[in-house]
Amino acid sequence: MLAERVREDFPILKQTVYGKPLVYLDSAATSQKPRRVIDALVRYYQEYNANIHRGIYRIAEEATMRYEQSRGKIAAFIGATRPEEVVFTRSTTEAINLVAYAWGRANIRAGDEIILTEMEHHSNLVPWQLLAAEKQAKLRFIPFDGQGILQLDEYQRLLSERTKLVAVTHQSNVLGTINPIKEIAMTAHAAGATVLVDAAQSVPHMPVSVGDLGADFVAFSGHKMCGPTGAGVLWARYDLLDAMPPFHGGGEMIMLVQLESSTYKDPPHKFEAGTPSIADCIVLGEAVDYLQGIGMAAIRAHEQRLTDYTLRRLAEVEGVTLFGPRQLDRRGGVVAFATDVAHPHDVAQVLDQEGIAVRAGHHCTQPLHRRLGVAATTRASLYLYNNESDIDALVRGLHVARHLFSPRPAPAKR
Ligand code: PLP
Repeated sequence: MLAERVREDFPILKQTVYGKPLVYLDSAATSQKPRRVIDALVRYYQEYNANIHRGIYRIAEEATMRYEQSRGKIAAFIGATRPEEVVFTRSTTEAINLVAYAWGRANIRAGDEIILTEMEHHSNLVPWQLLAAEKQAKLRFIPFDGQGILQLDEYQRLLSERTKLVAVTHQSNVLGTINPIKEIAMTAHAAGATVLVDAAQSVPHMPVSVGDLGADFVAFSGHKMCGPTGAGVLWARYDLLDAMPPFHGGGEMIMLVQLESSTYKDPPHKFEAGTPSIADCIVLGEAVDYLQGIGMAAIRAHEQRLTDYTLRRLAEVEGVTLFGPRQLDRRGGVVAFATDVAHPHDVAQVLDQEGIAVRAGHHCTQPLHRRLGVAATTRASLYLYNNESDIDALVRGLHVARHLFSPRPAPAKR
């Protein structure tokens, strides 16, 4: 099993919590980091810490070279045609805000429509709310059915000549649903709309080629794919980046600055003002090397098998309601559930006492939870290092919670 091979690579997984082995089931929030990623961060600070794109001394040149090398690795990893299509951001959130600000303010006008889905993370929702409010544009939402599958017939009905953007998550961070982006993008393009994909939960877990997706913008976060926090990616078609005004203004994104006006560098540097997260962006390249060494198809296959196991085991626990599709080819390893005995936070607290890390709450998807009719869920999310014994521990923990919270008969009166 893949997990047995790679677990050794993750030092954090060796620890115990409350005397019990740490069972980490929260990789949708952030993944753990392999030793070589941690070492690469230390190596940067110990050996060639310097600002990039400006110093002409040796270690500054090395830092610049490695930063650009990492951009190239990421471009190859997602099948981009050129490294200049990869813009480093802090995160998915910043990447989407970049598009909403720079592309959105130049292209969205009063009366235009932006189509989103009811399963979006707040980071692919709030930036469009801000833009729509500023431009008097309208937001429209593709609903999902009882299985957590997008209703594409509704999408067809929502599309019109007013649609300027379709912004959709590739994989839901709650339902696990993998959306048919290729089909969604083709339909959007036929209607003349631009397409953004929130790939925060897909790029870390399956082979993703931006060419195959057929989207115009793709956003993802390094920290969810074995990389450090502070490094995210916006991929975009070069011609779109070239036509877009800048996002942040400041050092390193300019060609010529005069007191009253400036000219800007070509993409991607036009969008990378100031000192970026140098170490994190460099080390994201190391994470990409690590994932590629294992193989994204192998990671996807492993997660599919383990998702199957998780769904089957959780379904055996009395009182557990599972959300999201059952078909394994339509979903990833994010499994949200509710129990009939306690609030998800209480369940997560009991699990924590058993050494099990899961997330409880709305997972930054309040409208999705409202649509499900629950205020919150407990979420177990899988990655390459999880195995069946992690899921067995989760199931044991749920039995403990059930035992603790189940109503007991009142003691008999004497
Ligand atoms: N989109 C999805 C689907 C996510 O799951 C997340 C993070 O949980 C984000 C966007 C935001 O990612 P970040 O917090 O790294 O910007």
